[in-house]
Amino acid sequence: MVKPIRVQAGEKTYEVMVGSGLLGETGALIGEKLAAGSCAVISDDNVAGHFADAVLASLKAGGRQPTLITVPAGEESKTIERAGMICEKMSEPGLDRSSFVVALGGGMIGDLAGFVAAIYHRGIPCVQVPTTLLAQVDSSIGGKTAVNTAAGKNLIGAWHQPVLVISDVDTLATLPPREFRQGFAEIIKHAIIRDAEMFEMLQGSDQADLAALIRRNVEIKAAIVAADERETTGERALLNFGHTIGHAIERAGEYRDFLHGEAVSLGIVAACEVSVRKAGLSEAERERIVRTLEKFELPTRLPTDFSKKKVQDAIRFDKKFSQGAVRFVVVPKTGSARLATDVTIADLEAAVALL
Ligand code: NAD
Repeated sequence: MVKPIRVQAGEKTYEVMVGSGLLGETGALIGEKLAAGSCAVISDDNVAGHFADAVLASLKAGGRQPTLITVPAGEESKTIERAGMICEKMSEPGLDRSSFVVALGGGMIGDLAGFVAAIYHRGIPCVQVPTTLLAQVDSSIGGKTAVNTAAGKNLIGAWHQPVLVISDVDTLATLPPREFRQGFAEIIKHAIIRDAEMFEMLQGSDQADLAALIRRNVEIKAAIVAADERETTGERALLNFGHTIGHAIERAGEYRDFLHGEAVSLGIVAACEVSVRKAGLSEAERERIVRTLEKFELPTRLPTDFSKKKVQDAIRFDKKFSQGAVRFVVVPKTGSARLATDVTIADLEAAVALL
């Protein structure tokens, strides 16, 4: 039996199950946690093709009445219009405030289905069943749900913690290699900001078993979320390491050129450069971090034909630059991070120029 990891988020506690063969246990794992019979399994057409049957069968065996609702795969589905359409489809079979949502997919589905659960009948429970490495180590935990608007990513959203997270590592077998690799950007980020020992472990050729690695990352994210659920004390903001410039790169690439994790990898390289200048990170440690990203085949330089100017322009759009002040996560040494307030936009532009 898999030992659950507990996440304490404000008043609520929930469990994250990480292991093999869990998808077929979905109904049993939900067990007594939720009283309702009816639920919506929300997925994308890609993921549903692989895993919906197993999840639906398991839910039915557990006495539930699931309705499968799919959307086209891809970030384009993460919109308020699509969320509205899903809500309409949930009304048709009579799902009500006693029903629940199962979010079956990667981070896109986790955010979209989580958002639907947050607004449907003013909020119904959500079970996250993440199927990408990125979603298993990061996005399924912590309760951030959102959809995108024309003005930017995740601009409409709600805090809505799941009631349970079921991470079946077997689902990762069908993940395209590039999607799998991008998940390591968040794992390396966790190691850099919190876990020097895991950073050392990642250097080895013999990777510890994947489930153990995912568990360790869930524990890191859970501890940070427990300390600062709503990103008010600055603790949770540390998870943004590499993301300020990463988001600007994603935006500059019009969300087509780079996957989230690839942009974060580049953002980590730039944030390390800033950390050398402003937080005393040694050149040797910076170099080691870059080599680690390369080891996992993540990008550490922008393509030569990619406009750095576009990235520098995009930096100014970031919502973290409230009132002109730059709150930027720096790393004085591997395994620890802090928020700096003396980093200027010029510092960021200089780091981008070196990418
Ligand atoms: P994704 O959900 O779009 O999945 C990537 C691709 O992999 C899709 O084509 C999907 O259909 C496919 N896929 C998923 N699981 C599969 C599997 N097991 N086998 C085969 N194919 C599979 O993207 P993602 O990278 O998982 O997540 C990115 C999203 O996560 C973005 O929308 C981002 O904003 C969000 N995000 C949210 C948080 C948060 O805290 N809420 C954190 C980080 C990222």
